[in-house]
Amino acid sequence: MVETPTLVIIVPCFQEEEALPGTHERLSGLLAGMVSRGEVSARSRIAYIDDGSTDATWHLAKGYADATEMACAVKLSSNVGLQNAIIAGLETMLDEADIFITIDADLQDDIQAIPTMVQRYKEGYEIVYGVRTNRRSDSWFKRTSAMAFYRLMHHLGTRSVYNHADFRLMDRRTVAELLRYPERNLFMRGIVPLMGFKSTTVEYERAERTAGKSKYPLSKMMGLAVDGITSFSIRPVRLVLVMGVVFVFVAIIILAYVLYSKFSGHAVTGWSSTILSLWFIGGCILIGLGVVGEYIGKIYMEVKARPRYHVDQKIIK
Ligand code: UDP
Ligand code: MG
Repeated sequence: MVETPTLVIIVPCFQEEEALPGTHERLSGLLAGMVSRGEVSARSRIAYIDDGSTDATWHLAKGYADATEMACAVKLSSNVGLQNAIIAGLETMLDEADIFITIDADLQDDIQAIPTMVQRYKEGYEIVYGVRTNRRSDSWFKRTSAMAFYRLMHHLGTRSVYNHADFRLMDRRTVAELLRYPERNLFMRGIVPLMGFKSTTVEYERAERTAGKSKYPLSKMMGLAVDGITSFSIRPVRLVLVMGVVFVFVAIIILAYVLYSKFSGHAVTGWSSTILSLWFIGGCILIGLGVVGEYIGKIYMEVKARPRYHVDQKIIK
């Protein structure tokens, strides 16, 4: 533990031209306050990671980095998604700080939790999860689907922190450990708790997005959920196997019934049941293939071991 740690706030940004000016103003105000109160060192900074935006995001981020020592800007050459953008930020800034806090560019997560997180670090915790106490600002749909997702993850045996997204503090040691995970499909919410370092939570109320639009529509959320589940658990594949075994048993029972009907003399009814089972079993086979395919796709992506991101430009003073 460092007495007056150097803090780097990592802010992944994708098409955030509308949100960024407000974000920069609030974050730099907060950081300046923390520096003047001696909570963090004067070398503390905010790092904007532009995840291949095509709007004015990079222009803005570069402007802040040029204008003040407090801001850094890293431009990725293409859009690699939130998880990889965070990894890019952590990896690029690893030697620049003692502690790292990752936060979304729209500041839906309460920045007032940041000083509290730093306080927890000083109490001896190496990882501090930001946990939202309400989801009133999210739509009903987002709330219920998120809830279902956490439940499902739990049942599938993965350890994830309830109602925690990617707003968290990690110290340099745990970040370095996280970077040892080479996988392309890195689902940090699942991996960070898995690492097992001393951790705690800080609660805050999640606010509404005030500028710009959400980059996580339903389709992307579903993708994230599937990734989260399949990169942590092979239970879905096992479920397919169990289903297969159950079907064979059902088939045996049906066979007995068919033989009985034949010998008792009333056969050749039952076209409807035949066609029904045909569709049902066909559907099950397709689902099974899909689940297995999802894993094979994962293996394919991992085996190629491609780099997770490419840094195009960086301004770190
Ligand atoms: N983001 C990113 N790359 C992407 C999509 C999103 O870096 O491909 C960033 C985005 O700029 C924001 C954060 O991820 O800082 C969360 O996105 P958003 O607020 O749109 O998601 P939501 O809060 O609606 O789940
Ligand atoms: Mg958001």
